Amino acid sequence: MNNHLIQRLQSELAEIQAAGLFKQERIIASEQSAHIIANGKPVLNLCANNYLGLSSHPKTIEAAHAAIEKRGYGLSSVRFICGTQDIHKELEAKISQFLGTEDTILYCAAFDANGGLFEPLLNEQDAIISDELNHASIIDGIRLCKAERHRYKHNDMAELEERLIATQHCRSRMIATDSVFSMDGTIAQLDKIVALAEKYDAIIMIDECHSSGFMGKTGRGVHEHCNVMGKIDIITGTLGKALGGANGGFTSGSKEVIDMLRQKSRPYLFSNTLAPSIVGASIAILDMLSETTSLRDKLEENTAYFREKITAAGFDIKPGIHPIVPIMLYDAVLAQKMAARMLEEGIYVVGFFFPVVAKGNARIRVQISAGHEREDLDQAIAAFTKVGKELGVIK
Ligand SMILES: *Cc1c(COP(=O)(O)O)cnc(C)c1O
Repeated sequence: MNNHLIQRLQSELAEIQAAGLFKQERIIASEQSAHIIANGKPVLNLCANNYLGLSSHPKTIEAAHAAIEKRGYGLSSVRFICGTQDIHKELEAKISQFLGTEDTILYCAAFDANGGLFEPLLNEQDAIISDELNHASIIDGIRLCKAERHRYKHNDMAELEERLIATQHCRSRMIATDSVFSMDGTIAQLDKIVALAEKYDAIIMIDECHSSGFMGKTGRGVHEHCNVMGKIDIITGTLGKALGGANGGFTSGSKEVIDMLRQKSRPYLFSNTLAPSIVGASIAILDMLSETTSLRDKLEENTAYFREKITAAGFDIKPGIHPIVPIMLYDAVLAQKMAARMLEEGIYVVGFFFPVVAKGNARIRVQISAGHEREDLDQAIAAFTKVGKELGVIK
């Protein structure tokens, strides 16, 4: 063992501990759901990306079982050697149909989809113009690509236009943005971004991880919500949030883009194929979401209800319509303390602070689900009110 490394890490870890910023993982001894067993105790879960309540839905589990029965546990291969089953092609076609795109490529995670997106499509002759608050996987993907890197202030369309003007010498320009920003629940202004991209002949890439399955009237995503379906060049997304919550990601777009990614995208070429159980369950989920909007409708109602009641209780939340509801506390230690007290009250929430959000912007991020019932939301609001008063957050 290298003692220098161990000693250095011990002191760095102690610093994180001393600052009250050490991330502790709570142990869940149940399935993922609205009601879980965390640290040995039954609690109401308000911090999963389980937007549609599908993580342990009977239809999800049944379809996953059926796929294991028919196509086995795993493929022990990457896609291009012997890792492509008929169901992988079926799922890719279903995602394309759901999103209104030509073709789709699966990855084992959206982190991989973003990590492997830019380098095969762009080089030093091109430029990428990225929202400053984009997800870490977009940032890392851009770092792996030789294109010029430009950033614009979060959601600032005037600065995006400046960047488009400043990069007119480049062969291609790609605008890259989360369509929903996961810390704030802010929705990107895709209508304005499309107008700018048309004006300056730029390509648009959006990350729909916190959107696919429930944003927009029929759950197609923010491109539906903003009325720009068919005008986005590249969509990346995850199967690990609303669409079942296991693993898996995808990139969807024109046939040529997807063909090139299959040839050159490194996380696709050099990493194992998605497990059949996940593929089978994802197919069943997309079928269900195409037949009925009842789950996304319930999520929308739950979100509006919670946002209204928590605001009435006196909390400072980031306004909006997304099921991500940031309850602003600003102070990192307070956010930690409040999350711990809420757990004692039977509500599982997590405090977020630097470096996940900017310094001085600590918060508790609540995520509403279609798996929550009205009495769950009332219970959560009562607990927030009690703990909020106790800690002096509200009067
Ligand atoms: C969660 C998330 C990812 C990563 O998704 P995985 O499939 O878990 O790798 C990428 N981008 C955004 C915006 C996300 O929220």
